Amino acid sequence: MSDLIKNIKGTQDILYEENDIWQYLENFIHHYLKKYGYSQIRTPIFESTYLFSRSIGSQTDIVSKEMYSWIDQGGNHLTLKPESTASVVRSFIQHKLGKKNPINKLYYIDTLFRRERPQKGRFRQFNQFGVEALGSKYPEQDVEVIALAYNFYKSLNIDNLNLKINSIGSPEVRLKYKDVLTKYLLQYKNKLSQISQVRLEKNPLRILDTKVDFEIEIIKNAPHILDYLNKEDKNHFSDVLSHLDSLSIDYTVDYKLVRGLDYYCHTVFEILSDNLGSQDALCGGGRYDYLVEELGGQTTPAFGFAAGIERLILVLNKKHLPISKSSDIYIVITDKKYLEYSLKISDSLRAENLIVVNDLLRRSLKSQMKDANRLNVSHTIIIGDEEVENKQVVIKDMKSGNQDYIKFDRIKSYFRNK
Ligand code: AMP
Repeated sequence: MSDLIKNIKGTQDILYEENDIWQYLENFIHHYLKKYGYSQIRTPIFESTYLFSRSIGSQTDIVSKEMYSWIDQGGNHLTLKPESTASVVRSFIQHKLGKKNPINKLYYIDTLFRRERPQKGRFRQFNQFGVEALGSKYPEQDVEVIALAYNFYKSLNIDNLNLKINSIGSPEVRLKYKDVLTKYLLQYKNKLSQISQVRLEKNPLRILDTKVDFEIEIIKNAPHILDYLNKEDKNHFSDVLSHLDSLSIDYTVDYKLVRGLDYYCHTVFEILSDNLGSQDALCGGGRYDYLVEELGGQTTPAFGFAAGIERLILVLNKKHLPISKSSDIYIVITDKKYLEYSLKISDSLRAENLIVVNDLLRRSLKSQMKDANRLNVSHTIIIGDEEVENKQVVIKDMKSGNQDYIKFDRIKSYFRNK
């Protein structure tokens, strides 16, 4: 016999009740984001590889080693989306959305692909929701998105949140800071890990979020990017912080937070959870005022974030979610000759928005009752010889055990009055 085919490492099947949580969350996300005036955008699951190398940055982990890319039969270089911002911006430019509206507040729920090392909270196929607000350069836009993200978790009763925020200034500031930081780190070059030594040359800012103890010590005395911001950047950032204060949103300014991707500038933020272990970021984002132009559009200031749904599910207190677990009705028949009755009654009750289950395995009465119990239905409808003769059914309340004899034409109204 051939080997059993299994799912690919870092992917997962979502089965049975777990889907109730996913569906609940997806509905919650749609409803929540519409309250802030965001509308959904759906972009393709794969794009031109060039889109990502150009926007995310060729030195980033994502582009240099994590993308699922291939060349198709037509010679096109394609990649499964590793993140959504680049696609949203591509679509924004392509459909001239900036001309249609001075401000575009978009959100997505997407499945993404990165060839990372799988572990708790980190997969190779995973899901994110996020927003991209294109058009406003003002700090109130930053605050709207940060507050939206923070309150999202609060409204799902997720505690132990840690909002970290920083400003990485304009690209010129970042360039200047990159030099200063490199100079500082070069003093310790031989002490740095192999990975950090490579990063020192390619992307030194990434070393700031090292998890290695002795590197953390070195970073403690590194120069702070906030000290290199120009006056305008500083004002923008202090406005963001004072608006957050007035909304009573707790935050920590973290000069080490730079975010991995090239396109960020000015305000960046992350929300972490104490309950997640090493992969503790629930969401992250920031301002990206130059990406639209970088990808060939008109200069458009923008702010966005992306949030992992798998990680959200890990910290969610599932017990308190208003998810109804049971089906409403199970139809039990004592003989297959009553199948037609059973199918007709089911359909008429489904038209009343009830959840109705039929036995499809021609099981015994006892087995059907057992199945009804397993499914935790509130009622069973029993159809047998005597019942059909009298043009009625037995309806059993599974909680109380009470049984009622109900005429065929009264079944619907019986449940309407329940
Ligand atoms: P990023 O797009 O890297 O800024 O990630 C935004 C959020 O997506 C993170 O804070 C995580 O919640 C989630 N995320 C990123 N990468 C993964 C992954 N490989 N598996 C599961 N969730 C992820």
